[in-house]
Amino acid sequence: QAALASREKTVKTECPYCSVQCTMNLHEEKSIMVSRYSVTPNKEDPVTDGRLCVKGLNAHVHATHDRRLRYPMIRIGGTLSPVSWDQALERVKAEIEGIRQQYGNDAIGVYGGGSLSNEESYLLGKFARVALQTKYIDYNGRFCMSAAAGASNLTFGVDRGLTNPLSEVPLAKCIILAGTNIAECQPTIMPYFRKARQEGCKIIVIDPRETATCSIADLHLKIKPGYDAALVNGLLKVIVEEGYVDHAFVKERTNGFAELADHLMQVSLDEVAELTGIPSRLIVEAARMYGQAETGMVFTARGVEQHASGVANVRNFLNLVLLTGKIGKPGCGYGAITGQANGQGGREHGQKADQLPGYRMIENPEHRAYIAKVWGIPEEELPRQGVSAYEMMEAIDRGEIKGLIVLASNPVVSNPNSHLVERALKKLKFLLVIDLFETETARHAHMLLPGSSYLEDEGTITQLEGRVMVRRAIRPLPGEARLDWKILCDIAEVLGKGPYFRYASVEDIFNELRLASKGGKADYYGMTYDRIEKESGIFWPCPEKAHPGTPRLFERRFAHEDGRARLAPIAHQSPKEPASRKYPFLLTTGRVLQHYLSGVQTRSTPELNSRYPEPLLEIHPQTAGEIGLINGGHAKVASKRGEIRLKVKYSAKIRQDTVFVAFHWGDDLSINRLTNPALDPACRMPEFKVCAVNIMPG
Ligand code: SF4
Repeated sequence: QAALASREKTVKTECPYCSVQCTMNLHEEKSIMVSRYSVTPNKEDPVTDGRLCVKGLNAHVHATHDRRLRYPMIRIGGTLSPVSWDQALERVKAEIEGIRQQYGNDAIGVYGGGSLSNEESYLLGKFARVALQTKYIDYNGRFCMSAAAGASNLTFGVDRGLTNPLSEVPLAKCIILAGTNIAECQPTIMPYFRKARQEGCKIIVIDPRETATCSIADLHLKIKPGYDAALVNGLLKVIVEEGYVDHAFVKERTNGFAELADHLMQVSLDEVAELTGIPSRLIVEAARMYGQAETGMVFTARGVEQHASGVANVRNFLNLVLLTGKIGKPGCGYGAITGQANGQGGREHGQKADQLPGYRMIENPEHRAYIAKVWGIPEEELPRQGVSAYEMMEAIDRGEIKGLIVLASNPVVSNPNSHLVERALKKLKFLLVIDLFETETARHAHMLLPGSSYLEDEGTITQLEGRVMVRRAIRPLPGEARLDWKILCDIAEVLGKGPYFRYASVEDIFNELRLASKGGKADYYGMTYDRIEKESGIFWPCPEKAHPGTPRLFERRFAHEDGRARLAPIAHQSPKEPASRKYPFLLTTGRVLQHYLSGVQTRSTPELNSRYPEPLLEIHPQTAGEIGLINGGHAKVASKRGEIRLKVKYSAKIRQDTVFVAFHWGDDLSINRLTNPALDPACRMPEFKVCAVNIMPG
């Protein structure tokens, strides 16, 4: 009888976690009492042929979790109490209007996330500028792709994560993977690299740790954290001196060769070896591998990018690509491997302080005029440029921002120097958090609104290749939760800005986004939901309905006005906080396979959390022995900004001067209480990847 009462349903969905956006089939077996879910791969996935990692296999667990927020909640006397949506929206209106009247429009800030769909990212940018009329909007993608984006814009004139589709990876004869651990962070794309190797490709991994990705490496350069640009200067010097420069390409398609060549004359290979900790013979070997290869690709990720010199680091890798002419052809290109689900789309549509939709710039008069027209507002009402994510926290701490709206993000865990963030949020007159769970950030909130998960939300995501995909809603919202985009529209309505935010569907928002992106660098105008679904995704730019999309960029022109790319001399900069007598070790941070970002979803998933339940201090056994640490025991780790206690894990795979800790936990286990908030001067990326620490038994 129970079997008769149960109903089975299978729907196609997309993983909400990393930037590969693997698709899958979600099966629901529904009986009167309970629903049971299981997942099988989608063999027709255009990128992964049905591969899924452990996170994707268990993604539905957090979305269907009992602890999901189901009702709007207001904090009264320290306790959260459920209220109706009408009461909640009235309170939001009163708080926002009160702050704006007393302190001005810029006293409200908005903080978004790189997992939001394109439509939500677009709407959040419009919401901040039109409904709140504040300049303060930024998002956690500032910590993800901002350095690579800055470097690509300067060098190529546009920023798209991968310049070529992943299907071209096996065509490369040499691949450099710099500061990217794809085996753990994007495991379902590893077969592309394995296939390349089978076809004779040489793979060079640059990382202070011998990560799981090193299993495919022909050469592992175990670099000292913070010395990437110095290493690339060494590689470039060998490339020039041994004659691997593609002079025809450099002449026809780039500017700046003479300045770069002059700069490289000053570079000493011995000095590079000393700085990076990599013997010069290995630097020469790596340069020859890449320089002599007929085709080649370079991939970077946060290991290279999360530095106060992040833009310069990436630019130097782009020098390498351009000098050897390895771009704009099959098996030749560059890729910044995005971490967040919509790290790519999230940064294209205007939730960054300095940008408007379509990669338009907020301080460019023509761009402002175009977007003001799309939004139907006078251009002078469009706010000016605000500040980056961490700088917003500093502005709160200084008392300049009095109210903050956080959508699908957990800044208390994800920002550097998180003691400052916790202190700052306590000073807010009004903190509104829209999320799935009561996160570490939500604990400081005056009000929580229950938002939507990937199973309930509909919209487009632009995955790491620049391929736009549609994700359909497949499950009703729990309790009284609302779709994230509808919540923004509801708030706009009570603030009297409803006429600018009346959409019949999320596709309506997409159609407005298409228009807003038209003529911009990330042009989506030629895409429709129907087309995207029929064509298994479309690569931007796609400016017309008849345009096929652009899987490979820069075949004939770069995106600067003159069509040429820019080479640039890059001087090495040391990390802002080198090791010292008081803090003799280097701390670097990163991800583990089982967790995603600040861990809110994956820590709520027992199947994942049980496999990696707490952050570990990865330390070389010899270093640990000298300090007196025992494998499995505990250690106190301290930087100038704070101290935390962690379980010790011996690892002979890490440099002896460096320790590694994953960043997916909050409170007393938050490694970001220690990390350095020194910012890149151009893109405002913090220096997560290196700071000086002391370590003691504890
Ligand atoms: Fe695919 Fe990334 Fe999800 Fe794993 S986490 S299933 S690699 S999208």
